Amino acid sequence: MNKISEIPEQTPIAEKPTVEMPADPWRCGACGSLRVSCQVWVDSNTYEVQSMAEDKDDLWCDDCAEHTRQVRESELMSDTVEPWWNDGTTEEDREIITGLNPENFSPKDDRKAFRDACDMWWNGRTNDEKIRLWRQATAPEEE
Ligand SMILES: [Zn+2]
Repeated sequence: MNKISEIPEQTPIAEKPTVEMPADPWRCGACGSLRVSCQVWVDSNTYEVQSMAEDKDDLWCDDCAEHTRQVRESELMSDTVEPWWNDGTTEEDREIITGLNPENFSPKDDRKAFRDACDMWWNGRTNDEKIRLWRQATAPEEE
């Protein structure tokens, strides 16, 4: 007779400590998502990581559902997201993104006051918020 209660209890695998997000986490280079994975070889006995993925083929983004490049958050900000804000947005874009009305600002110096206010608004965002805005503005339309 098989009695479930007689099956010796398995030694539970040590629970993973809650991993904190690193200060400068890896993000998907295409969409900025934090939901990225990489393939690693681990030692079968010790679970020690032997080698990390280097090829794009071994990197995965859950949000893109594709193999994508991964970059450090700081790199994504300085190479992609900040340049997008500075050079990739028009005045209309900024009006929509910030909710500020350029008509409330002095038109002097090519609307410098409005542009400054937008930059101030932008600088008050967290990286997460900036990445979300960048992604919304640059992502291809969902089908
Ligand atoms: Zn992605």
